[in-house]
Amino acid sequence: MTILEQMLLNTDSAVILGHVRPDGDCLGSALGLYNYIRSFRPDIRTAVYLEEASPKFAYLKGFEEIRHRTDDESYRLCICVDSSDRERLGEFAVYLDRAQASLCLDHHVTNTGYGECSVVEAGASSTCEVLFGQMDEKYIDKSVAECLYTGIVHDTGVFKFSCTSPKTMEIAGRLMGKGVDFGNIIDDSFYRKTYIQNQILGRALLESITFLDGRCIFSAIRQNEMKFYGVDGKDMDGIIDQLRLTEGVEVAIFMYQTGASEYKVSLRSQNIVDVSRVASFFGGGGHVRAAGCTMSGSIHDVINNLSLHIEKQLNEREQEG
Ligand code: 5GP
Ligand code: MN
Repeated sequence: MTILEQMLLNTDSAVILGHVRPDGDCLGSALGLYNYIRSFRPDIRTAVYLEEASPKFAYLKGFEEIRHRTDDESYRLCICVDSSDRERLGEFAVYLDRAQASLCLDHHVTNTGYGECSVVEAGASSTCEVLFGQMDEKYIDKSVAECLYTGIVHDTGVFKFSCTSPKTMEIAGRLMGKGVDFGNIIDDSFYRKTYIQNQILGRALLESITFLDGRCIFSAIRQNEMKFYGVDGKDMDGIIDQLRLTEGVEVAIFMYQTGASEYKVSLRSQNIVDVSRVASFFGGGGHVRAAGCTMSGSIHDVINNLSLHIEKQLNEREQEG
């Protein structure tokens, strides 16, 4: 029996939490688990608490039932998915404090081990992949499969990032076998953009700047620009992916303003720089090739601070090789 199955057999209530600004893997694993519990142990009182997510994920079963505000409820078991540290749970960390038992399911190399029990597989493509390994396939119905497939698609950039393994593909195949509409999931949740989202993508690309001899690229969107286009953080998905694909670029940086002098930063690397180390230094985290953090100062300050760390790693590699 897996740790998840054991813990579910020993509880009558469970709360599922993820990370702030939930993405495809966070939503997929939280709702995948929610739907799984409903089929595996329907007697368990279960709820999911997450910040508001992009409506493009509304096809996931249970999306409308996600609670977005804290309340006075408490649950015996707290399961945290895709969140590498306690702070990333945001305001919903109170349910972790109120719970008698906790389980953390994750795939971040920077996971701090904040859960009482943890299943952290840094080699897994996604938390959805980790979750699949914890589930009894008998209880994975189409709705669970759609959630897990969505998470895997998003964290692998549609099966192409280096975190994609033969095992990832096997799991995706098993999920396809449950009848998921894979083409529409990929198009509607990953590639499709609203007109405004395309405009902000275009603007970010137009204003991007390369530095460190073209080995790095960055682009920044200020709050006044976000206001002008009427977009928020959820509309910026995919910008970093396009910056990352600029020829000759090792590290791509995208940031958008979240406060007077505060920026949410996304980092991606090609094959040299460990961006999880860079992000961790500034209080964030993530994976070797994809990480993020929140930084203060002007755009200039943020880039200066980041470039010191990136350049150091690039130089180390040059000396080695
Ligand atoms: P993204 O750039 O798409 O927001 O995030 C890339 C990866 O880094 C994801 O796995 C995400 O969970 C992680 N990440 C992004 N921002 C933060 C942060 O502020 N703190 C931590 N610990 N991880 C982050
Ligand atoms: Mn993830």
